Amino acid sequence: MPRTPKVPAFESWGRYPRLDCRVEPLYWRDDFPRGTRLPPEVLPVGMGRSYGDVCLLEDGTLLSTLGMDRLLHFDPATGLLRCESGTTLDEILRFAVPRGWFLPVTPGTKFVTVGGAIANDIHGKNHHVAGTFGAHVPAFELVRSDGARLTCSAAENADLYAATIGGMGLTGLITWAEIQLRPISSRKIRYEGIKFRGIDEFLALSSSNGHAEYTVAWIDCVSRGKNFARGIYMVGDHSEAIEERKPSRAPRLSVPVDFPAFALSRPSMRLFNGLYYHKQLRRHVTGLVDYEPFFYPLDAVLHWNRIYGKRGFLQFQCVIPFRYGRDGIVAILEAITEAGLASFLAVLKVMGDRPSPGLMSFPQPGITLALDIAIKPGVTFPLFDRLAEMTRELGGRLYPAKDARMTGPQFRAFYPQWQQFAQYRDPAFLSAFWERVTADA
Ligand SMILES: Cc1cc2nc3c(=O)[nH]c(=O)nc-3n(C[C@H](O)[C@H](O)[C@H](O)COP(=O)(O)OP(=O)(O)OC[C@H]3O[C@@H](n4cnc5c(N)ncnc54)[C@H](O)[C@@H]3O)c2cc1C
Repeated sequence: MPRTPKVPAFESWGRYPRLDCRVEPLYWRDDFPRGTRLPPEVLPVGMGRSYGDVCLLEDGTLLSTLGMDRLLHFDPATGLLRCESGTTLDEILRFAVPRGWFLPVTPGTKFVTVGGAIANDIHGKNHHVAGTFGAHVPAFELVRSDGARLTCSAAENADLYAATIGGMGLTGLITWAEIQLRPISSRKIRYEGIKFRGIDEFLALSSSNGHAEYTVAWIDCVSRGKNFARGIYMVGDHSEAIEERKPSRAPRLSVPVDFPAFALSRPSMRLFNGLYYHKQLRRHVTGLVDYEPFFYPLDAVLHWNRIYGKRGFLQFQCVIPFRYGRDGIVAILEAITEAGLASFLAVLKVMGDRPSPGLMSFPQPGITLALDIAIKPGVTFPLFDRLAEMTRELGGRLYPAKDARMTGPQFRAFYPQWQQFAQYRDPAFLSAFWERVTADA
């Protein structure tokens, strides 16, 4: 296997924690474990778009899958695609959209790999109708450190199939996967943007738009008083008009340096949130938009994570079950505004009840809230600790893909099936996340 003498450090998207990891690039599906001078512990990684330490391993070896990015087979009659696990969703869209097919589920960035999408069992704006990414992956190959190569599906090696979907890279290396794409006739999305004030209006919009394929809300989590929890509810469906489906252009803008701390002050956040709310002048707008700005507004600016400065940032994402959802989300938003910390981007979404095939998948029926907060010494960590505890009291859970703070007891309360999952972990596979949440078990 080719070896690089010195490989740059690997960072997760939140740039916290920063850990020393060695990176071993994989190019071929049999590079691992053959030819690898196996260090005691390894972890496969993709684009590092997870926010915390689920894609990190201190003093271990990260198996970078980005060289395994080939499309292997496509059936144009059914839309079933087989590709290597380092293929990004961006690459799939470039191939599939001009042919009239689209991803079954997509997160808020297209710069993630298929392996990463399966290992975190990602969800998107269509969770209420489509479930998670894993629900559209009928089969994949898993390579274990003992050299076993296992095809996994609901019928074959079903236990490893379930453990690997949402298995955070700990059950082995996914080398290829099959993804069931969904047909489209246009690259356009029929869009509706509706302004709301407060969680009750958000919930009313969510129940009246349950038929729409994509729904999500941006929420202002800085304003208080009458503007508390105001936001824009966004609804989208693929347009049925037959149109040209040209490939998209690569993003042009990039954040070249880390932003200074004043850019992240509460007044600038308040200004940003106010401008964002008022950028839509009317209460209700409709239109046809390209899928790129609808699904991936942040991808237009490369390295936008540098906006949060050198210390990095944390993302908080919880899901609170419906029985406590409304009051729970209000309490969490109040805790955030009271802490005097603010976020540029906070999103709220109702998750559906389609079960995930993954044993450890994050989504569950309820309301999910996700927001980014810059790391400010002495303030951000206590707030996150409090939010995690509130989530636990409310019977919800946090998303490992976004986490760098939950404690072992919190993890084990969020995922009581963790011991069952631990039986399927490959003994040579480890992550900083897993070490953190199981060390005291
Ligand atoms: C702007 C932005 C928006 C996002 N929006 C969403 C969203 O809407 N919904 C959502 O669910 N997530 C979202 N995410 C999170 C992101 O989708 C996940 O963290 C995803 O897993 C990242 O994929 P990656 O290729 O970067 O993998 P990495 O972050 O490098 O790794 C993620 C996990 O996958 C494992 N892994 C990677 N490749 C393999 C492989 N070949 N075999 C086995 N395990 C592997 C790793 O060990 C690790 O545990 C968002 C992230 C960003 C930056």
